[in-house]
Amino acid sequence: NTPLHELDPAVAAAVDAELLRQQSTLEMIASENFAPVAVMEAQGSVLTNKYAEGYPGRRYYGGCEHVDVVEQIAIDRVKELFGAEHANVQPHSGAQANAAAMFALLQPGDTIMGLNLAHGGHLTHGMKINFSGKLYDVVAYHVDDATGQVDMAEVERLAKEHKPKLIVAGWSAYPRQLDFAAFRRVADEVGAYLMVDMAHFAGLVAAGLHPNPVPHAHVVTTTTHKTLGGPRGGVILSVQELAKKINSAVFPGQQGGPLEHVVAAKAVAFKVAASEDFKERQRRTLDGARILAERLVRDDVRAVGVDVLSGGTDVHLVLVDLRDSELDGRQAEDRLHEVGITVNRNAVPNDPRPPMVTSGLRIGTPALATRGFTAEDFTEVADVIAEALKPSYDATALRARVTALADKHPLYPGLTK
Ligand code: PLP
Repeated sequence: NTPLHELDPAVAAAVDAELLRQQSTLEMIASENFAPVAVMEAQGSVLTNKYAEGYPGRRYYGGCEHVDVVEQIAIDRVKELFGAEHANVQPHSGAQANAAAMFALLQPGDTIMGLNLAHGGHLTHGMKINFSGKLYDVVAYHVDDATGQVDMAEVERLAKEHKPKLIVAGWSAYPRQLDFAAFRRVADEVGAYLMVDMAHFAGLVAAGLHPNPVPHAHVVTTTTHKTLGGPRGGVILSVQELAKKINSAVFPGQQGGPLEHVVAAKAVAFKVAASEDFKERQRRTLDGARILAERLVRDDVRAVGVDVLSGGTDVHLVLVDLRDSELDGRQAEDRLHEVGITVNRNAVPNDPRPPMVTSGLRIGTPALATRGFTAEDFTEVADVIAEALKPSYDATALRARVTALADKHPLYPGLTK
């Protein structure tokens, strides 16, 4: 029962330093969030000790009576939250959820369609050296050059030409909503399954602030740690007809024992996600992204070559276009890091700079909204970012403004030693 800081001071010191980093900087990586203390308590519980291969009521190990309760609560809550007929809450991550869903529906060599990685798709949607690109034939669709939005005419044309078995609608870096009904029409026309990967926007869907893909798709996958704000993990939702295939693709197809401590934390996160407070938080998330998009296209910011892809945002992130800026994506990421704001550089469509450098930034608001940031705070954040991207930036002054914002909204105060 030796506490961590006594048993392993080296690891404890790194954990403490990470807590301080999260508390003292502004986290704006679009795929990150801050899990509630109760979620972390469940995730750090004795459930980590339990083997539970199988599903509630049908396990291959004894002693599963309590983890059965937990997993069934998680399943019931997530089905209710998104209106799904079936849920599997065991995938260890979003990538595992996608791998299992594809494993359930496809044979190696089948054709899949997904959004091109450089246009905002995810690795698991068909990137060449990912399992999805190695096991399946991939046809990528793109965003339109002029609008920055997914080109449904191209999706339809490619689908008719290549007859995919599965179409993936979803993204990691895209500032707009997809038309799920249109995707389903195309899928039906060519006899494909429609899989929506809502990893990024699941929290917005749960709050009723983004169209729900569940009524349109055969399968919906998600992570639980992005806008949804829970522990790191994945979930697969599907129509009842596919339930058996999905379950056996997760276990024993792709995974062994489920992480029941994480399943417990997912259950807690789903409870939080059904609350009014969560909805209000997602509203601030969207307001923050909109404010950011508006303030990064003011004349004085445009003058240094900054623009916003697609001209704005409908979701929790903004994609900054630096193709006309002297700063490349890496320099801009470093510049913001220097003033205490964490973002990631991101390729823009037809990026003239190499992938390790890029000409874009992906900036998200979920974590700061969780911290309590209001429209007024996001206005200040946007102005700090705009100033930081100018050649005349004053790092010391901007860092002080970041610190003032961080101090105004303390993070995990009870965890500070
Ligand atoms: N799907 C999408 C759309 C994502 O953006 C991500 C992660 O960034 C994933 C899946 C993979 O999630 P994980 O990192 O949990 O494997």
